[in-house]
Amino acid sequence: MGKHIYVHNPFCAGKCPYCDFYSVAEPSLIEDYYDCAAREVKLWAKQLENSEMFSDDCEGAGCSVYFGGGTPSYPDATYIVNLMKTIVREFKIPEDSENTIEINPSSITGEKAGLYRDAGFNRASVGIQSLDDGILKTLGRRHDSAAAAAAVAILQDAGFRNISADLIIGVPGQTTDGIIRDIELFEHMGIKHISTYSLTIEEGTPFYKKYRHLEDVMPPETEREMYHKSRDFLAATGFVPYEISNSALPGYQSRHNSSCWRGEEYAAIGAGAHGYLDSVRFGHKDDVKDYINVLQDIAASDRIPEGLIYREEVMSIGDKMREYPFLRLRTTEGIDRVEFERRFGMALDEVFPKAIKDNVSRGLLEDCGRYVRLSSSGLDFASLVMEDFL
Ligand code: SF4
Repeated sequence: MGKHIYVHNPFCAGKCPYCDFYSVAEPSLIEDYYDCAAREVKLWAKQLENSEMFSDDCEGAGCSVYFGGGTPSYPDATYIVNLMKTIVREFKIPEDSENTIEINPSSITGEKAGLYRDAGFNRASVGIQSLDDGILKTLGRRHDSAAAAAAVAILQDAGFRNISADLIIGVPGQTTDGIIRDIELFEHMGIKHISTYSLTIEEGTPFYKKYRHLEDVMPPETEREMYHKSRDFLAATGFVPYEISNSALPGYQSRHNSSCWRGEEYAAIGAGAHGYLDSVRFGHKDDVKDYINVLQDIAASDRIPEGLIYREEVMSIGDKMREYPFLRLRTTEGIDRVEFERRFGMALDEVFPKAIKDNVSRGLLEDCGRYVRLSSSGLDFASLVMEDFL
């Protein structure tokens, strides 16, 4: 296992109408928030200093730091840079760590990109979503296709070689040809990793009012066709699909996300951040003000304060056994029978005979000897198949 750290930046310039992630548009809280995030980093580092995460074995296994959001490129870069420096120092992050920052095309500048590189970020994940201005308008994004291309060029000029782009599929008005064109353009721009997410309509968002019956304007079979054709095209273009939503040129798979799909542990910093440490899955409250209040109150404490973590789930061996196939089925490789037995001391087929047999006979799983993975049609019913292992 490597050393992995997730940091949540909950600030955005405004709310996109389809988004239900936790984010706020309250710039007056940014300074206090990052001051508290640095405190939290120091507390975790102290609490974990004798854990496996700080062992030498861990260093050699490949580490990662991931700044997600929200929009990490929205606050002044000084906050991000200072927090990153604190993480590198306190967690002893090695030089070959994969350090990602999510970038919104509407808030990146050459100066920010240079500061991120100097602070040790070597991977950028850009929320482009589409290179069609009509689709970007439908999505209510703050950037257009020219700004997206400019953002990628800015990052490349600053020295980012490992750039990922997000692409949303299933947007009203979108076509398969349009998505293929976007992928071609990504390739020409030098993008190394592409994440394709299906638009989902979440209750409570403006999109819920407008597109509650999305199927009327984007039939599910059309969306599925877009998904499969884009996946095939990505593979034909050299972007190997390695997970349900992620494809990469060889050597550019996300180390951070891959560690999550292997069920590895990771620290989580910030309001709304979820982590997994010492066999406990935990979450911070989705509340920036509460986060600041709790951490400003602790004075000289050297323990994570009560009240910072609101949800904790201790993972028993049985929980881990059920979770492992759930996570691994997201990946193209699938569930590894050898790895399962090594981890849990039992054969996969002894623990899940019915889930495997039923889904193989329905054509939703492929049994490939050492590996059991979703078939092409299984990709459309992934959550149902996964539930059979829970
Ligand atoms: S920028 Fe990203 S996190 Fe922020 S509101 Fe838009 S989709 Fe949500």
